[in-house]
Amino acid sequence: MAVLAIARDDVSAEFFDGTARGELLLRKCLKCGHINAPHIEACIRCASPELGWQAAGGTGRVQTFAVVHLRGDPPSRLVVAKVGLAEGPWIDAQIVDVDPDQVHIGDEVTLDFETPEGGEAVPVFRIADR
Ligand SMILES: [Zn+2]
Repeated sequence: MAVLAIARDDVSAEFFDGTARGELLLRKCLKCGHINAPHIEACIRCASPELGWQAAGGTGRVQTFAVVHLRGDPPSRLVVAKVGLAEGPWIDAQIVDVDPDQVHIGDEVTLDFETPEGGEAVPVFRIADR
């Protein structure tokens, strides 16, 4: 199933510079060291706005997910999940190359990237070998 295109803006530019290099960048707090999700503007532990970037290691687990049914001929389905990264933060991403009926909460996933036509490279996940 196709990955939907996303366009960058001023706020997301550094994040998408990272995805273009094959890195999922997280926000590391420069004050307390907590690893935050990429879209965070202040640390969720100490509220400091002083945040750096750190690349995720690329593993995580499905915390929850939804199957989106798309109109078309034939109709198709895609899986959108909240993935809990090994570093702690949860991010929203598609799970690709999987039968939606075979996705389970708790599945191990690994990071990859896809670049849909007309969009930025976006992080996606694949189910790790069972
Ligand atoms: Zn902090």
